[in-house]
Amino acid sequence: MDLTIYQSCPSCGAEIELHEADRLIRCPYCDVRNFMVTGGPLRFVLPDKTPPHIPRSDILYAPYLRFKGNIFYCKGKHLKYKVVDTTLQGINVKVLPPSLGFRPQAMAVSIVTADVQGTFLRQTTKASVLLDRAAFLTEIDSEEIDAPFYHRAYIGETLSCIYLPLYIDNNVLYDAVTNKPLAQGGSEEKMKAMGIRYRESWTPHFLATLCPHCGDSLTGERDSLILSCYNCQTSWEEHKGTFRSIPWSCVAAENKDASYLPFWKLSVRASGTVLETFADFLRITNQPLVVQPRHRARELTFLLPAFKVRPSTFLRLSKNMTLRQETLPAGEQQMQKNMHPVTLPRIEAVQALKSVLAGSALNKRKLLPRLPEMHFHPLQTQLCYLPFRANGHDLVQEQNGISVAASVLRFGRKL
Ligand SMILES: [Zn+2]
Ligand SMILES: [Zn+2]
Repeated sequence: MDLTIYQSCPSCGAEIELHEADRLIRCPYCDVRNFMVTGGPLRFVLPDKTPPHIPRSDILYAPYLRFKGNIFYCKGKHLKYKVVDTTLQGINVKVLPPSLGFRPQAMAVSIVTADVQGTFLRQTTKASVLLDRAAFLTEIDSEEIDAPFYHRAYIGETLSCIYLPLYIDNNVLYDAVTNKPLAQGGSEEKMKAMGIRYRESWTPHFLATLCPHCGDSLTGERDSLILSCYNCQTSWEEHKGTFRSIPWSCVAAENKDASYLPFWKLSVRASGTVLETFADFLRITNQPLVVQPRHRARELTFLLPAFKVRPSTFLRLSKNMTLRQETLPAGEQQMQKNMHPVTLPRIEAVQALKSVLAGSALNKRKLLPRLPEMHFHPLQTQLCYLPFRANGHDLVQEQNGISVAASVLRFGRKL
């Protein structure tokens, strides 16, 4: 499910409708663009129908934690994955609904701001409990695998908190979304004592989308995590509340109408089981080819999609791009028109490395037991745009022929 969110424009205050993944917010009223910076999990409130005789400051907000993302795990000789979207009560109160059901899908939520009066019931369930539950949901379908567990990773994850508004009228606790009674004999004072007021750190803040290097405006799509300056040919990511430049390159296309897909080019070293060169990668994943001196001279580099796609596509692209990296010429610092937005952060690509290694292995029975002791150390990262040409419903990489369905890319932006 993709949340629809109301957020007021940081420049003119008008109400703007956003998708959950949006970061670059263009206001249709004042035309100003701002980049949203979130300090922690985003906090949302469901819209309420509290009767007018109840003061807004008496509304109680009950937290629900939400996890949405892909879970990869290795068990026995199997690499499995699952897309999980689940909510969990953030506070242990029996009279509250155990989950929000379809409500967040059916109605737009608002980002919590200082305008939301009332009391926020304190979250007592730790986020780790939610992650454990998400992991449990994926393990249900692997219960029949009676083999040791080796690895788990959460990729493309969103953790957020959605508040359910409540109020007490005549000693009856009501769900303020539906105005249906939940329990008799509720004490407002007792509930309020369990709560806290709004905190400024909860609300995202905004960065002006100007290039820190040359002052020109930065370009990106609404869900772009990386913004580009076409004037001085630089790429920028948000880091601790400011923009910082990141190394990038673009492989030149032969086809004028090429689309460019972003990949994280990660140079790494592994300890535990030592992996230092491309030859080590070929050997440990049992590739059916003779290791050459040139493989030994090439450092260990992975090429992972920097955009969200289904887990199966993510693993296939990561494996094939990494294996066929020798076919790719060196990139140039030349921005192109059709650059697909970066929607998967670098840090999540790093977290996916063990799963990608497992996915690349032809003999999983041999490799998977080595994963727990293995540690990847990123040495260098570069954002690398590769040219793809359209071929029917597919996009095909110009140099190595690896293809991806165009519909898969569109779908991935909703993940
Ligand atoms: Zn505006
Ligand atoms: Zn610039």
